[in-house]
Amino acid sequence: RIPVIAIDGPTASGKGTIAMRVAQALGWSVLDSGALYRLTALAVLEQGVDPADESAVAEVAGRLDVSFHNGDVFLRGRDVTQAIREERVGNLASRIAAYGAVREALLGRQRAFRVAPGLVADGRDMGTVVFPDAPLKIFLVADVEARAKRRCKQLKEKGFSANLSGLLEDMRLRDERDRSRANAPLVAAPDAKIVDSSNLSIDETVAVVLGHWSS
Ligand code: C5P
Repeated sequence: RIPVIAIDGPTASGKGTIAMRVAQALGWSVLDSGALYRLTALAVLEQGVDPADESAVAEVAGRLDVSFHNGDVFLRGRDVTQAIREERVGNLASRIAAYGAVREALLGRQRAFRVAPGLVADGRDMGTVVFPDAPLKIFLVADVEARAKRRCKQLKEKGFSANLSGLLEDMRLRDERDRSRANAPLVAAPDAKIVDSSNLSIDETVAVVLGHWSS
């Protein structure tokens, strides 16, 4: 089978960056599964669909016309790389990700990213649900303060306004919702390696993941 490295963990734990760097190092492709939930949320907002209507939201997820090119994300051919990073989109993504029908609608789309020579998949349930047979599963954690600081820096770099205490509060809420939802609660797969990046640089974290892969 085509190998998968699953990288799961809470919001802003650095999964996206680490997944991209590990994929580059191995020459593999990368799946940012959170982007699919964010794209669904953006489409729901733009199409005026009621976010409380699970089956309507799942229908939007099933019909998503998306493409990825060199780290940029397109919805119906329009570049939405920036738009899906907005906090209001992230917050709605977290809400609709609690719908079983939405998760079901995105399952096949995620598995289609498994192409030779390999895939690094970043998300919440890559190792538990989407690629349970992945030969390497990483559960990447970092304390909430470290994550809020990173997210703050990231937003400012992208030209968005950001406020640390607001982000901290937001992140705690999102953690709680991600952990406690009935569908796909955020938990490490039993066979996952737990990596704490609170005190590690990006390079160090990438090295830890690659070390697990080669051992
Ligand atoms: O990782 P990111 O912040 O982009 O994900 C946006 C939201 O999508 C998260 O808050 C999470 O609730 C949801 N998500 C998920 N399962 C995934 C990836 C993301 O439920 N595999």
